Amino acid sequence: MTPNQALQQYFGYSNFRHNQEQIIKHVLNCEDVLALMPTGGGKSLCYQLPAILLNGLTIVISPLIALMKDQVDSLNVNGIPAAFLNSSQSNDEQQQLIQRLRNNEIRLLYLAPERLFSAESRLLDFLKTLKVVQIAIDEAHCISQWGHDFRPEYLMLAGLKQHFPAVPVIALTATADKLTQKDILEKLALKEPHVFVSSFNRENITYTVKPKRNSFDQLLAFLDKHKNDSGIIYCLSRKSTERLAEDLKAEGFLAEAYHAGLDHATKARNQEAFLRDDVKIIVATIAFGMGINKSNVRYVVHMDLPKNIEGYYQETGRAGRDGLPSDAVLYYSPGDAKKLKDFARIEDNPEQTKILLKKLDDMVHFCELQTCRRQYLLKYFDENAPANCGSCDVCLTEVERFDGTLIAQKALSAVARLKESFGAGYVLQFLRGSKSEKIREEHKQLKTYGIGADIAMADWQRYLRDLVIQGYLQTSGGEYPVLKLTEKSDAVLKGLEKVQLIASQFMDEREEEVALPIEPEVFDLLKEVRRDIALSQNVPPYVILGDNTLVEIATY
Ligand code: ADP
Ligand code: MG
Repeated sequence: MTPNQALQQYFGYSNFRHNQEQIIKHVLNCEDVLALMPTGGGKSLCYQLPAILLNGLTIVISPLIALMKDQVDSLNVNGIPAAFLNSSQSNDEQQQLIQRLRNNEIRLLYLAPERLFSAESRLLDFLKTLKVVQIAIDEAHCISQWGHDFRPEYLMLAGLKQHFPAVPVIALTATADKLTQKDILEKLALKEPHVFVSSFNRENITYTVKPKRNSFDQLLAFLDKHKNDSGIIYCLSRKSTERLAEDLKAEGFLAEAYHAGLDHATKARNQEAFLRDDVKIIVATIAFGMGINKSNVRYVVHMDLPKNIEGYYQETGRAGRDGLPSDAVLYYSPGDAKKLKDFARIEDNPEQTKILLKKLDDMVHFCELQTCRRQYLLKYFDENAPANCGSCDVCLTEVERFDGTLIAQKALSAVARLKESFGAGYVLQFLRGSKSEKIREEHKQLKTYGIGADIAMADWQRYLRDLVIQGYLQTSGGEYPVLKLTEKSDAVLKGLEKVQLIASQFMDEREEEVALPIEPEVFDLLKEVRRDIALSQNVPPYVILGDNTLVEIATY
């Protein structure tokens, strides 16, 4: 039978999707493969079809016992002999299964990694006596600490290749950036692996990020347009999933909570009800969703900031598997980012902390984007995309801009005055007149110190980003990037070019970050700014004063 015939006969599909055909070809050729395909892309078929064509046993490693049953059931329905082995089975059942394996009656055997390597079961030794023709490792990103769902038991798979040196291994995941990919290949010790990356673009999903204000009311307004639709709402904490589910029920929605702390029966019941459409909304922590194959999820909402882009993309990817238009909405507040930042710090592991913080920073950047969100997401996974997708909030909305020339001049002056040798964080402290004793002592005699104290820190962050995006500032340097002027800076400082900035939509929800009042002494210092600037070198010949006038040093 050819792959195409098997596709028809066992799965009822007439065409391969994405890279399925090539992936299958390599596996049949006994070669190792790493396949990256978006959620719902059709990864399972990449090992299920070879399992049919190859005459022997395929071992499938899968992280969740709950998923195995679904997969095995649907394979059996399609006439493919498959089974799973896990702790939910009685001794008798397990013995029967062993017998069937001995008789070569099973084509696919699903296992959790800890099961395969558990010392007392001696399963591994038994499997080695069988004709194993393929090993599939589903959700392979679980092996990497850089992935978003690290599972220590996956590390046991590191020795797999040694036990089955001649058996092709196919690792599959929907989510792995470059670092995670590399980690998967190394940890599994894949042999001359072929790596396939399918396009991650989910054209039918519209991405929206809204400033989080009164998130429950915002959510109700959103749900008003989705009255009869199925959706997943993600919250950061278990408690908030339960609270929100209750609140939604009180509003008449069919909603249930789901998180890892619920007992097994409740979880199973809520998940089942959602799959059957008896429950329309699942309010969940990120514990929910892996392997859930519900095609008509019309929206995914994030009430809180996800920790990284991979997680966010995987979660939003659960919307619209049927290809119909779907929504991904995230309610963002900078306060959430701050909270997560504290979580990200791992004691005694600065290396990992750094990576987690970087990933969080990318997530924040995504939320604060003023350019196409889809482009950013795809870029994150190393895919190029046009600058305007036409179906994210940024591309769909005319952004409101205002004359931010003065703000730009203040920022550029500060960068200049700091001799282009500090990063954004420091420049911001300088602009706002930091209370930090150290910074203050060092700069307070500089007349530009504190000229931006009238603008909130979080707004400054956005403005600086905007200025970088528009090329009035640039960042340089690797690990600790430094803000520098550009060839466009000069015209702005001279007042020859006006700068349009995007109005901050987050302005009024940052109580903890309200601007410091400008202290009188700062004004006093500002009066002498010209002399100060005139004495320094390497700075443009213009500077902003405390009363917001621009002064050309030469004419003074
Ligand atoms: P994932 O990549 O998330 O593991 P699945 O393997 O669960 O995705 O597949 C998602 C859905 O796509 C399933 O319903 C599957 O039957 C279907 N599918 C897979 N391959 C094809 C194909 N070539 N043509 C049509 N549907 C397919
Ligand atoms: Mg899958």
